[in-house]
Amino acid sequence: MYYKEYGNTGMKVSAIGMGCMRYDEEDVAAGRLEKCADVALYAAEQGINYFDTAPFYCNDKSEIITGMALSQLDRDSFFVSSKANLGTTGDVISEDAFRRRLDTTLTRLKVDYLDVYHLWCMLSLESYERQSEALYGWFEKVRDEGLVRHIAISSHMPGEELEQVIVQDQFRGMLIGYNALNYRFRQRGIETAWAKGMGVVAMNPLGGGVIPTHPELFSYLAENTDLTVPQAALRFVASHKEITVALAGVTKKEHVDDAIIAIQNLQEEPVAELRKRYDNMGGTSLNDLCTGCGYCEGCPVDIPIPKYMDSYNQKLFGGESIEARLKNHWGLKLDQAADCIACGECESKCTQHLPIIDRLAEIAALRDS
Ligand code: SF4
Ligand code: SF4
Repeated sequence: MYYKEYGNTGMKVSAIGMGCMRYDEEDVAAGRLEKCADVALYAAEQGINYFDTAPFYCNDKSEIITGMALSQLDRDSFFVSSKANLGTTGDVISEDAFRRRLDTTLTRLKVDYLDVYHLWCMLSLESYERQSEALYGWFEKVRDEGLVRHIAISSHMPGEELEQVIVQDQFRGMLIGYNALNYRFRQRGIETAWAKGMGVVAMNPLGGGVIPTHPELFSYLAENTDLTVPQAALRFVASHKEITVALAGVTKKEHVDDAIIAIQNLQEEPVAELRKRYDNMGGTSLNDLCTGCGYCEGCPVDIPIPKYMDSYNQKLFGGESIEARLKNHWGLKLDQAADCIACGECESKCTQHLPIIDRLAEIAALRDS
C-alpha cells in the first residue's frame, strides 16, 4: 500500500480509502451486515486505513456496518471520518441535536472519537456560509473535547469558490468529488488546499459510473498500462500530489483488489503536469457530462432532471439521440422538458455546474425539429 500524509495533521493514510457508501444493497436489505463488514475488514487487511462514512449511507446502515468491522481492529490502526450538516441535526437546529447526532455516529462506529468530521455537502458558497455560521462553533467545541480530531469540509463547489473557503483557515481537510471528468474545474481548489497543508480526499473517482460505462471515451487514461479503464481512472486521481486519499467505492472484496492493482508503483505528480499530459486527450466535452449524482432533484414542477441530463449526455457522447435515450431508457418524452420555469434551483445545486435550463430548452425545442 502507498501511504501519504493527510496535510499537516500527522495522520499517515492510505492513498486508497474505503468509501463506505457502497456496501452490497441486497446484503444490507437482507440484514447480512456481518457479510458487509467482512469487506471492510478485508480492505483493512490489504493496508487500507482510511474509512469514510456518513449518516444515511446504505439505508442508514453504513456507520453500523463500518463500526462492526473497525471494532475488531486496534483503534490506532485506522482513521475514520463521518459527516454532519443542518440536514443531520433534525427538525430543530440546536446544539443538543448536533451532539445527539455525533453521539449516534460514535456509538454506531464503536469509537470514542472521529479522526475527521466533515461539514457535509456544501454545494455553494451560500450554503457553506449559512451552515458554517450555524454549526462551525459546535464542531470546534466537540473537537476541543476530544470527540473529533480534525474538522474538514465536504464540498461540491467549483475550485474558485473552494479557494474562498480554504483561505479562511477553518478546516484541516477537504472532501470533494474529483475525477477525470471534472478535474479541470476543481483544480484550483485542490492546489490551494494542498498549499495550505490540508488533507484532500477525493470521492467519486469514477464519475458516478460514467467512466466504467463509457470506457471507450476514457481509454486514453489506460494507454501503455495493463490497467482496465476504471483502474486507470482511480490511479489518475490517486497520482495527484495534491490528493491524499482517493476513495474507492467498495461493494465486494474484488473491488479492493482492483484498487490495490490500480496504485501499484504509484508515482505522484502535480496537477499541472497531469493537465499537460491529459488535457488534450479525451475531448473537452467530457467536462460537460452529467454524472447522475442526483443532487439537483426536487424540481418544483417535478422534472426528473438527472434523467433528462443523462439523455443530453448522449449528444456529447455521440451516442443514440436524446429522444431515443429518453424513450428507451427512461420511458420519457421530450415534452416535459418544456415545463421548466427557469427558477434556477437545480443549477445552484448541480455538482457539475451544468447549464440545466439551457439544456432543457434545447431538448424541448427538439419537438419542432
Ligand atoms: S430551473 Fe427548471 S428544471 Fe431546474 S428546478 Fe427550476 S423548474 Fe426545475
Ligand atoms: S444535472 Fe448535475 S446535479 Fe443533476 S444529476 Fe447531473 S451532475 Fe448531478
